[in-house]
Parts: sequence; structure tokens; C-alpha cells
Amino acid sequence: MIMRKNLTETVLKLEKSQRIFVNRSLNMKSIKSIGYDMDHTLAPYNRENFEAIAFRATLEKFIDAGYPQELNELKFDPNFVIRGLLVDKERGNLLKVDGHKYVKLAFHGRRPLDKQERHILYNSESFKAHEFLSIDSFFALSEVQLFTEIVDYMRLNPRKIEKTFSEVYSDLRKFIDLSHQDGSIKNQVMAKPELYIVKEKYRFNALLRLIEAGKNLFLLTNSKWDYTDVIMSYLFENAHGDFKKWQDYFSQIIVGSKKPAFFIGDNPFELLEQSTGTSSEIGDTLVKGEIYNGGNAKLFQELTNQKGDEILYCGDHIYGDIIRSKETLNWRTLLVVEELDHELPILEQEKRAFEEIKDNMAIRESLDEELHRLRSLINSTAKQINLATIKNDKKKASSLEKEINKYKDKQIIKEHEISELDYTINEKIRLRSNKIHDVWGELMKVGLEKSRFAQQVEEYACVYTSKVSNLRFYSARKKFSSPHDLMPHDV
Ligand SMILES: [Mg+2]
Repeated sequence: MIMRKNLTETVLKLEKSQRIFVNRSLNMKSIKSIGYDMDHTLAPYNRENFEAIAFRATLEKFIDAGYPQELNELKFDPNFVIRGLLVDKERGNLLKVDGHKYVKLAFHGRRPLDKQERHILYNSESFKAHEFLSIDSFFALSEVQLFTEIVDYMRLNPRKIEKTFSEVYSDLRKFIDLSHQDGSIKNQVMAKPELYIVKEKYRFNALLRLIEAGKNLFLLTNSKWDYTDVIMSYLFENAHGDFKKWQDYFSQIIVGSKKPAFFIGDNPFELLEQSTGTSSEIGDTLVKGEIYNGGNAKLFQELTNQKGDEILYCGDHIYGDIIRSKETLNWRTLLVVEELDHELPILEQEKRAFEEIKDNMAIRESLDEELHRLRSLINSTAKQINLATIKNDKKKASSLEKEINKYKDKQIIKEHEISELDYTINEKIRLRSNKIHDVWGELMKVGLEKSRFAQQVEEYACVYTSKVSNLRFYSARKKFSSPHDLMPHDV
């Protein structure tokens, strides 16, 4: 009983950016294995530095391929594009969509689209989100940033690039793949990981705590062995006396996993010979200390003798890591949403502003009801005037006229009050979200509505948090309970 009290108190004292938020109840007692993605999950990136080299390396390939030299002048802006946006490759537009598939914000290059343009292009008929590219991963940010800059260049310099926006995007994809293949990005990170990877102070504590509690940890990354080894060594080598090598933390290590194919396909596992880089067939189990390449989740479960719901997988990619593992295999999922680290403290500061917005909205609702009542009165009085006129009852008609005019005056005042209040509410919402991001606002909201990203997080991630090391604040036997088990009428 005493232990339970202490734990509850510890959780209550946590800052919001240290907490784990629960969509679906998760009992850690029934979790045998915890898997980790590497990039942006175990290994947080210095995004500004990393995206700048990805932007530059890809831009150089555009110029090599005969695009105008002037593109060299394009500047990398780490702050414009955020995750959760959709890209309309055909029109060169960036969109922020709410949970009801309504396009609330849109840009063509750097030019904002007004309400009417958004209506004509997207909101006048049913919006098909799957026809657009969704920015789910951090790696896509520099890619889309470059696309946005080129679209803007095309807007300001018509006919200098004789291609459609979709064709430019296909080239962009090709050049990014090339930059990955020829090592223009990877080699720079491997040469100086300290510039690109963030060494979090508590990066190994959560792992240790879970190992001590008897959990089996595994690494499952799409990165290749050479890159994985450099990054993981940089982060974990000699970080703790009992775990000299980073490999010591994990019971299974899988690289080059090709997620989401790992979760739905049937790729075989290959055993990697670390020194030579050659591979051979695996035995009938996955051995601790060995490195495996490729593979698939079904076989992983068989070889490790586990059921889907006994595995918790932690990743940062809503589609590649979370949706697929949850949907096809019923793995439990923890989504790392690192943006929360920046957003939650601001939202805490803005709590009062949020309360004011809610109060104003309640006033708005009662004004609306009063307006509705006035309109009904005006309608019924008009009918009575009609009747009095038909009956030639001039006296009654004239007294009713006076009455209806009073109502109409009041109606004008109410309408004015409502439009003023609407302006105040919108301004307050705008100011609040500008404090988080001056273009797109909160990741999980559009205005006060849930964003499409938030809706996916809610649907697919069992739990989510700002960094994976936050698991250290909770017991390895913790039962995470979801407030979503309540219906709106229960609250
Ligand atoms: Mg990742």
C-alpha cells in the first residue's frame, strides 16, 4: 500500500514533458519484450544540423542534374515544415488538416492560401487524405522543406523550371535516395556523430531499469549495421560499468529491417558477420550478441516464442513503427513525440489563456441561444402582424410593429456582440498557437480541433511521450490506465 502511494506521488510530481500519456490501457506486467527503434527514438538527433546537411546534399544533386544554378541560393529553414502536415505534390502545397479532414491551413511554397482558395481546392468536396503525402518522420522534414523552397522559386520565377510540381518531387525522391546511397549524408554523421546525435543524460537508465525487472530488450532499426554501430557506440559505449558494449543491453539486434515491410512481409533474417559484413543463414533461434539483418515480425515472434501483445515497441514513426505493428500484429506501441518537449511547457504557461478561450466560448454559446430566441420572436410577431393586417386590426398591427422593431434592434446588438466575441476568440486562439509555432501552431491541434496527426496518435499509439527515457519514471510493472475508457457522458 505504501509503495503504491509513493509511486502515485512520484507520477503526480512529474513535469508533463516527463509523463507517459495513455490512449489504451497497458499493463507492463504482461509485457515480456520491449523493442526500440534507433533513429529519433533511442538516438535523438540535433535536427537543425542533420537536416541542414540532408537539404544541402540533395540540393547539390538538383544542380548537378541541370536545375538552375540560382537554386544554390536557397536557404535551409529548420522551422517552417513540421510533422503531421500533408503534401499536395501535384499542386506544390502544404496542408494542415483537422481530424474531420478539413484543410484549415495551407501554403503554396511560402505563400499562404486564403480561405476561398482552400475551399475551392480542398474543402468543397470530400477530402481524401490518402491521396497526399503525409509527413510522418523527421527525415521527411528537410525533404519537404526543400520541395517548398523549390515550389516558391518556381512561383517567383515562372518558366525557369519547365517541370510540373509532381515531376520536381519525383526528382527530389531520386536525389535523396542517391544522397543516402552515395553516403553524402551518412558519412558526415558517422565522421562526427557529436554534431548530429544528442547524448541524453538519462539515455541508459530506462533500459537498465527494465532489464533489472526481467524484461527482454531488442533493437529493431531500418538503419544499416555500419551506421547503427557508430551511433549506438557513440551513445552507449562505456556509459555504464556493467554494460561496456552497447550490444550488452539487447537480447536481439536487428538492423536493415525495412519497416513497415518488417511488420507485414516475409523477409528472412540474415546473420551478419560483423567484421567482414558478409551474411549467412540463421539457426533456429536469435542469439544474444549476434547481429541480424532484415527479417519479419511473424518469424521474430516464432523464434523468440512470444505473442504480439507481449511485445511493446517504441518508435517515433507513426506509420512505419506504430500503425503497422499495432494493426497487423497487435504489438503494444509507445510513440515518441519529441515535439511535446517544446510544446508542453508552453501549453502549461498558456493554461490561463486556454481557460479564457473556453469561458468566451461558453458566453458565445449563450449569446447564440439568445439570438436564436430573438429570431423566433421576430418570426412569430411577423406572422401575428400579417394576421392583424388581414383582419384589418390596425391598432394591434401597429403595436406589434413597435414590438418587432424592438426585437430587431436587439438582434442587431446581439449579432454585433457575437461578431466581436468571435474576433476575440480567434485572436486568443491565434496568439496561443503562435507561441508554439508561428505558422502551424500545435502539432496535435488545428485551432482548438484535434489535428489529423493527433487523431492517428490517439487511434494507434497505446501510449505516447516526449522521449523514450521517460519510461524510467515508472515501475516496470505499472498499469497505465486510459482516460479514453470513459465515454463523454461518463465525465
Ligand atoms: Mg525512427
